Amino acid sequence: MSSPAIAPYEITVCRGMQAQTNCRFAMEVGEGFATRLEQCVQDSGWPVFLRNAITGPLLHHHAFRIAASACPNGCSRPHVADIGIIRACVPLLDPEPCSCCALCYKVCPDRAIAMDRQGPMFDYGKCMQCGMCVAKCPERALSCMENGYRVVLGGKLGRHPRLATELRGIHDEDVVLSIVSGCLDIYMREYRKGLRFGALVDELGDALDEELELLTGK
Ligand code: SF4
Ligand code: SF4
Ligand code: SF4
Repeated sequence: MSSPAIAPYEITVCRGMQAQTNCRFAMEVGEGFATRLEQCVQDSGWPVFLRNAITGPLLHHHAFRIAASACPNGCSRPHVADIGIIRACVPLLDPEPCSCCALCYKVCPDRAIAMDRQGPMFDYGKCMQCGMCVAKCPERALSCMENGYRVVLGGKLGRHPRLATELRGIHDEDVVLSIVSGCLDIYMREYRKGLRFGALVDELGDALDEELELLTGK
């Protein structure tokens, strides 16, 4: 019996990002984001490039994998994908409407909030940017001072697993798409037999961040 054909790329989005399902942890995601991601990969030329670069059938490890999650729980496994995209909200307090009810403190799964008489105080070193405190606040005293996506690069499983490396910053959807496109351009430029994207991330180090920052204007 023959094995099913391997596609040149795979895009996985978590349940919280799919229109037909929902998840109580999911933060809002732009309509059609998954479709835009797919279009971005198609437009990069990667599918044609890979088919020309590989002699013989495509194998599982040839496929470029992108995984997106609507919260830091990461059900789509973004940390072991070539590119992982994780929804993020960095909370900010407006002290004026805060009633000091402590609901934000109680809901935070990461103990990143301490309460004092003025309201919550955030430990941004512990905060996972999940936005749960913002969603819970009955007074709308909390908002996202940064609202977008974290991007992690070069994760993989297999014989030599590698957890993805996080790019600096939180990025809006357009910038995320530019990063995806930029990563594929760089990977195609540097491609050689057997080179996994994670190995290229290690090879290029800070130079990759700098090139992506130039490409995205950030
Ligand atoms: S990653 Fe978060 S939002 Fe997505 S399915 Fe898992 S828990 Fe829900
Ligand atoms: S965003 Fe999430 S982790 Fe950060 S303080 Fe709010 S509830 Fe806690
Ligand atoms: S949930 Fe809102 S109103 Fe209550 S303490 Fe937190 S910021 Fe203040």
